[in-house]
Amino acid sequence: MISQPKKLRKPNQSIDLHSHSYYSDGKLSPTELAVSASGLGVGALALTDHDSIEGLPEFMAAAKDFDPIPGVEVTALHEGREIHILGLLFLIDSSALAERLKAAREERRARLERMVKKLQVAGLALEVEDVTPDHPGGSLGRPHLAQAMIRKGLVAGFEEAFQAWLRPGRPGYEPQAAPSVPQAIEWIHDAGGAAVIAHPAKLHRNRWIREFCEMGLDGIEVWHPSQFKKDERRLLRICEEMGVIPTGGSDFHGEGRSASVLGSAQVPEETLNRLQDVTLARQGG
Ligand code: AMP
Ligand code: FE
Ligand code: FE
Ligand code: ZN
Repeated sequence: MISQPKKLRKPNQSIDLHSHSYYSDGKLSPTELAVSASGLGVGALALTDHDSIEGLPEFMAAAKDFDPIPGVEVTALHEGREIHILGLLFLIDSSALAERLKAAREERRARLERMVKKLQVAGLALEVEDVTPDHPGGSLGRPHLAQAMIRKGLVAGFEEAFQAWLRPGRPGYEPQAAPSVPQAIEWIHDAGGAAVIAHPAKLHRNRWIREFCEMGLDGIEVWHPSQFKKDERRLLRICEEMGVIPTGGSDFHGEGRSASVLGSAQVPEETLNRLQDVTLARQGG
């Protein structure tokens, strides 16, 4: 089955290619996310949970009056840094992708146990059982650990949890064993999707972005709440130079988790058309 949008979108409606549900660290169910998108008049929305495509069947079914875009945000590693690679418009029934992501979620759980041990050694009263996903099949991450620390009264809020304990270099941080960037791109391509580097401005590594394009990346996330106008201009130039697609999204995790607003990214129609062309060709359409 080809994974292309059905053209439910009306002209001038917004396109948002990055959001999260409770299948990773978002607050809403895929259905609640779809209902919010409809209420806001969003024309196309991608659900891109961290290392999970488990929420997609519910999301696709719940999208009645906008184009649901199958998505995922794969965690990859490059020279010790976590790189997030978005997969878009892949075939959601790809069992190879589902299995690879299931193994990634198992590693996420193992990593979380290592992080809890480190926090215990640092003197925090916290148990692995305190850290729970928002949904039984959901992928666990540092936000769930931060939530547990807040519940136990160990920190006042998210920012303190990350800044004092969970950021790289802080006592609770542990890297996640993860695929390399070319491996993550291959996982997405094998499923017929487009691979896009998420929010790359925070890397401060233009050279890496170009290298990732040479490894087969299809696009760069240019419009993202963490990126400024000058980042957008710089990233757009790299897109033109490397011949890849500029994309964007709100990275919505639910009200209150960050300042991002669902559907707020300024993504042009051409982006979706180009993503469709690339993925249709890959899917043999
Ligand atoms: P993980 O996938 O477990 O490494 O967690 C990464 C997620 O943690 C990101 O996608 C964000 O949702 C969240 N995150 C990372 N850094 C921060 C921060 N400084 N404050 C709040 N949330 C953060
Ligand atoms: Fe997240
Ligand atoms: Fe991300
Ligand atoms: Zn994200």
